[in-house]
Amino acid sequence: MTSRLTADAFVAELADLFARLGGLHYGEDVSQLEHALQTAHHAKLDGAPPALIAAALLHDVGHMMQKAGENAADLGVDTRHEHIGAGYLGRAFGPEVTEPIRLHVAAKRYRVAVDPAYLEGLSKASLQSLALQGGPMSEGEIAAFLAKPAAQAALRLRGYDEAGKAPDADVAGFETYRALLRNQIDRANRI
Ligand code: FE
Repeated sequence: MTSRLTADAFVAELADLFARLGGLHYGEDVSQLEHALQTAHHAKLDGAPPALIAAALLHDVGHMMQKAGENAADLGVDTRHEHIGAGYLGRAFGPEVTEPIRLHVAAKRYRVAVDPAYLEGLSKASLQSLALQGGPMSEGEIAAFLAKPAAQAALRLRGYDEAGKAPDADVAGFETYRALLRNQIDRANRI
């Protein structure tokens, strides 16, 4: 049985992570916390299922967990934050939450491969990291990506991600997602 206390503790750990490191920017106009809240907001607006809203809120936690720092991309480092984040969250959340996160960089590489105009909508930081992440996907990579069960969810997440970078957007705070996060942890039944 899932322990309520443990689920609460994990949600508290996430809240603490945003409280301590959510002010960092990673080359974007918005802070990590603002970006997370806006991305989740767009998922909600789109009527995304709760697992995808949780994924939207948490998709970049890997950025806050790594040591490479805010200017990693300037230093030419691909931090592979999508894998760090998915691995960390997998302690508590199921694949409906972690796999779109793991694939959200792949989703960008897919989109620019199939729709070059998509490049124009990317933020400067996202464009810069694209090159480090491998650039547009090859034909083989496209087929492998589309065959993954979470590919479509990752593409939806990618859209919310791009939309979640508006300076000064007024959206709901982290607290409003606590129950949803606890619910997702309970459903996964991992802790
Ligand atoms: Fe993002």
